[in-house]
Amino acid sequence: MKNLSILAITILLAVSCGSHQLFNNGSSDYTIVVSEDATPSEKYAASELKYWIKEVSGADLPVAGLDGGKKGKRLIVGYNSLTETLVPGAVKPVDRDDSFTLTSNGGDILFWGGANRGTLYAVYSFLEEELGCRWYSSKVSVAPRQDSWEFTDLDRHEEPGIIIRDNCFLDVRENPTFSGRMRNNFVNLPGEKPGQTLPGTAEGYWGVHAMGYLVTPEDYYQEHPEYFAFRDSTRLSGYSQLCLSNPEVLQICIDKIRKVMRDNPDFLVYSVEQNDNRLYCECDECKALVEKYGGQSGIMVWFVNQVADAVKDEFPDKFIGTFAYQYTRHAPKDIVPRDNVVIRLCSIECCMFHDYDDCEQNVAFMKDLKDWSAIAPHLYIWDYVTDFAQYCLPVANWKTMSTHIKDFRDNHAIGILEEGDYQTVSGELREMRAWLLSKLMWNPDADVDALIKDFTDGYYGAAGPYIREYVEFADSVLRRPGIHSDCYIDAADPMYTDEFISEGRKIFAAAKEAVASDKVFHDRVETAEMPLCFLQMQRNPVIGIQEGADALVRRVIEREGITRMAEGEWSGGVMEASRLLDSYDKLEASFKEAPEYPAADVNPKIQGVSFQRYEGSFMTTSQMVWRGEIVHEGTKPWIMIETEPELDHFGYLFDCWFRAEADGIHQFKIVSDDGAVLFIDGEEVINLDGSHSEKTGFAFVNLQKGFHRLKLRYFEDCEGQKLEVFLAAPDGFNGPLPANRLFTP
Ligand SMILES: [Zn+2]
Ligand SMILES: [Zn+2]
Repeated sequence: MKNLSILAITILLAVSCGSHQLFNNGSSDYTIVVSEDATPSEKYAASELKYWIKEVSGADLPVAGLDGGKKGKRLIVGYNSLTETLVPGAVKPVDRDDSFTLTSNGGDILFWGGANRGTLYAVYSFLEEELGCRWYSSKVSVAPRQDSWEFTDLDRHEEPGIIIRDNCFLDVRENPTFSGRMRNNFVNLPGEKPGQTLPGTAEGYWGVHAMGYLVTPEDYYQEHPEYFAFRDSTRLSGYSQLCLSNPEVLQICIDKIRKVMRDNPDFLVYSVEQNDNRLYCECDECKALVEKYGGQSGIMVWFVNQVADAVKDEFPDKFIGTFAYQYTRHAPKDIVPRDNVVIRLCSIECCMFHDYDDCEQNVAFMKDLKDWSAIAPHLYIWDYVTDFAQYCLPVANWKTMSTHIKDFRDNHAIGILEEGDYQTVSGELREMRAWLLSKLMWNPDADVDALIKDFTDGYYGAAGPYIREYVEFADSVLRRPGIHSDCYIDAADPMYTDEFISEGRKIFAAAKEAVASDKVFHDRVETAEMPLCFLQMQRNPVIGIQEGADALVRRVIEREGITRMAEGEWSGGVMEASRLLDSYDKLEASFKEAPEYPAADVNPKIQGVSFQRYEGSFMTTSQMVWRGEIVHEGTKPWIMIETEPELDHFGYLFDCWFRAEADGIHQFKIVSDDGAVLFIDGEEVINLDGSHSEKTGFAFVNLQKGFHRLKLRYFEDCEGQKLEVFLAAPDGFNGPLPANRLFTP
């Protein structure tokens, strides 16, 4: 009783000192007030406020019109007559303004900003900063339960660092509600228009590489081959670039884009962008304009300016967008983009790991960024933040994402498209990467380490400190001076080492231990570990299978519904998740059934491999041995064939003792063009026989420590010639079959 009295006095004192209580013990005197003629977005903001306050407090606040609620007990959503009365001097923001003000007047709290999104962001800011709500992904929201919450003075104004924030990760793109909570304002899903899925018009960019569908070869080539790129005395008939100096091409582009703008009025920027190849026109007229304006970007700006001029009167608030990409990345000379032109500059060649002004691979981009910034009224960046060759490999760009965004902001970028794993959910720590990018595009000066701490503690619970340790560890190992990486990284990249994988997995073992009793957090940590396991399986499946990397990758793929591992087949990686799992099936079966071989009772001393070289035309290695003519015999330091010049109709029989350094399963892998067959202790273990282009085969064999006879038959029929032999061994060795384990018989 005594304690209760003290509590009551404390509350009384607090309230009498100008403090106001929004809720206490699951109830509240407050009313959410929103004008009947507020925009759908502002009404939606009121409903979000109601929903999340209830999640936090249990109190269900009524929503009323402007005359509802008691003075001093209102949450006033949107700019309206109450704002004008309570905040003298307040100015109504334009609808498209995403900045917002969150302020209190006595006990009333006012949330207002631009009617499209600004007011909504004021509500989200209040829920995040004051009540501690978090939206870490489309599936993971946090609303920390509180008994009471009180305030004295609220006064916050924020504006976005980047006006158009396009977070191009699948989870964000597919979930407009989550995207809005993260203050991303770009919606451009196929078949959708901005604003359709979340109230409040989002800024949109219609199209990409749109010249390809404004003037198509199918529609025009037959009658007008002169519309298309001139190369080597001919007009290209396939998907190339347009002949930009041709006035009819210009007129078609103007007519078509005007129709697009009329039919799709919700977008802000409309693409008149080069196609995705380097086949620009080399006719005399185009060459003259290229010369005149200092490069390929010059003729592009000259062309797009004319399109922009033609649509300006009808669409004074809209923009025509064009690329500064690959062959147009350098800024032009003696021509500047019009006020209603947006230049979309692409960072695809950049090193993701280092700052733009602190990396030899980024110097040229930084120059282009500054040059464009000096002449382009509106710059829009297309940035790349993940590994497109293999989405789930570790990418240590945590510390550079923010400096890159700051550079874009400082060079007057009005928009950024941050391209991540937009097709799938297999990217490394993709939830955190997407969340950080949302935060950084809103506020490029935000403290990355503080954001990472916020996310890791919130999303991974007690494992949070270990995930941070992993991020720091990956940063120190992968992101070093002299190690550069663009957005196409392969598992065989030398920056990844077996030690990186094993040390990283140790951190994850501790992380899983910390959340062992909580399946939800444990699953999230496993998902975060998947990239390391995938990497381990790509590099050394012997160790991978022994340490359960295959099983973990399999669990995560199935649990998360991952269908895709890479942007495309061209990456050289494994694209479909199902195909990856098929390959694991084969590996696991072969591993389980690995035949055992006892060591031979021999002790050879001389390193090297005996060989017989054959010549003749054969279709199999057996034919080579029966019919071929031995033209040379001798010893080589390791298993090798001549790779140049290109020869046909020859073959080799290699013979040596292989020394196993430890008991256990070894993987031999052969890449050959044409046929190859490997024998261990007299048993055929890999058969890639026959005439064919490059093929890969592997085998697991369980070898006792000591010597084993290794024979390899290889033949080259015609065209390319290749033979490579790899070993992954239980002692940790992983690489080309090493000479120091091979001895002459
Ligand atoms: Zn031309
Ligand atoms: Zn670099």
